[in-house]
Amino acid sequence: MFINDGDTVCVVGGGPGGSACAMTLLREARRLGRKINVVLLEHKHFVEHRHYNQCIGVLSPPFESVLKNELDLTLPENLVLNEIEGYRLHSDLLSLDLIGEESGRSVSVARSKFDAFMLEEAQKAGAQVVHNRMTSIEVNPDGVLVYSEGENIKSAVVVGAFGLDDGTCRIFEQGTPYRQPDFLNTVIARLYPGKEFMQSMGFIVHAFLLSHPGLEFGAITPKGDHISINIAGRRVSSSVMMEFLRSVPVQRFLPPHQRREKPLNYFKGRFPIAPASNLFGDRYVMIGDSAGLMRPFKGKGINTAINTGIYSARSIMRYGVSKKAFAENFYQDCRELTEDLPYGRVVRVLTNMATRFKFMDHMIAVAAERPDFMKAMFSSVSGHDPYKKIIMESASLPLAFTFAQKILGHFLLRQEAHLPVKSTSPAM
Ligand SMILES: Cc1cc2nc3c(=O)[nH]c(=O)nc-3n(C[C@H](O)[C@H](O)[C@H](O)COP(=O)(O)OP(=O)(O)OC[C@H]3O[C@@H](n4cnc5c(N)ncnc54)[C@H](O)[C@@H]3O)c2cc1C
Repeated sequence: MFINDGDTVCVVGGGPGGSACAMTLLREARRLGRKINVVLLEHKHFVEHRHYNQCIGVLSPPFESVLKNELDLTLPENLVLNEIEGYRLHSDLLSLDLIGEESGRSVSVARSKFDAFMLEEAQKAGAQVVHNRMTSIEVNPDGVLVYSEGENIKSAVVVGAFGLDDGTCRIFEQGTPYRQPDFLNTVIARLYPGKEFMQSMGFIVHAFLLSHPGLEFGAITPKGDHISINIAGRRVSSSVMMEFLRSVPVQRFLPPHQRREKPLNYFKGRFPIAPASNLFGDRYVMIGDSAGLMRPFKGKGINTAINTGIYSARSIMRYGVSKKAFAENFYQDCRELTEDLPYGRVVRVLTNMATRFKFMDHMIAVAAERPDFMKAMFSSVSGHDPYKKIIMESASLPLAFTFAQKILGHFLLRQEAHLPVKSTSPAM
């Protein structure tokens, strides 16, 4: 099963993954001297900025080198709302500036503008962008038929780049052995606190690991003239968002006149936390969020979508569209992500236990004392290093001993007092 001259490749979804895939397919075709058609189905109109993909819109390293080296693109500076200057981690009682170095800048962008830029570049590269919604799919041994609200597309292979769109996941589940990834729900709200408050806040991302039931993590991110607030958990909703906004650690980052205010708009979304099942097969392959190959917490989902889009396109053009070819090439290229998944899962379970048993304050206190644990915290929150590296570098006997002491002290104190533990260090 190979791609021949005149064949069509259909990409479903024009987020960063789909656009990067389309550009790479055409680039590879040129390099190999082949003529193919790339049809990209995207039902949203990003240029009008009415439609968007759920996101905070932070682009972090190595996004610039991937754009430059793999897609020959430079992010237009007018898309940058602000550069991110650092990360501050908050538990119930403590706050800590995370100190570490990233291998490039992190910037926040308006996500719809970034998606519009990528889609336009895919179109310039020669992809046919069709603004229709895919409605059904038939994957046969000799080709794929993709149905949409408009024209139908006969193609040699279909690339699933539809994110976690529930309806489209089901269409693929009916038409292929694909099963969508496990996910957390997310809610985003925005507040416009005014210029003065934004200036006083600085361009710091505030990450919150609080012992609030049902909440895995939350963050406040400055974005030019406003702050975006996001929460994630199995069952988060607008009321969990209100509880998060009213919690003591979060109130400090809201302007006084907006501390009791309800945000006008909430945006719901999803965040994959495990790989999809059967994420490739004969004549189909999933990339980005649809594939679920994401880090928990600081996901760098845009980078992952772009990278997996590039890997899938290379695999299709160089090695064909059979399940075997995807297993031996596309999936192998994803091993940096797949090999890190079990380590990410361990970090997620430990973090959830730490918040559940109100132990996160101690972890922050240890990070403030020990540079090795500070580095681990920085790399986890900024997403700088793979979890495997973080665990390997920070696992040491002295650190284990410090934690054993803290855990023992924590539970003895709780037993004695029958009360939640209170730290003496004030929140900053
Ligand atoms: C709350 C939240 C905050 C996040 N913040 C960040 C962040 O700051 N930085 C970061 O790197 N990542 C972040 N992410 C993750 C990031 O948004 C995703 O990982 C990334 O968008 C995945 O890209 P994608 O191309 O796979 O899918 P998407 O960006 O979801 O794109 C899928 C596209 O497919 C289209 N589509 C779906 N179904 C159909 C259909 N039937 N027909 C036609 N088109 C269809 C959709 O319209 C959409 O445009 C965040 C995620 C959430 C939920």
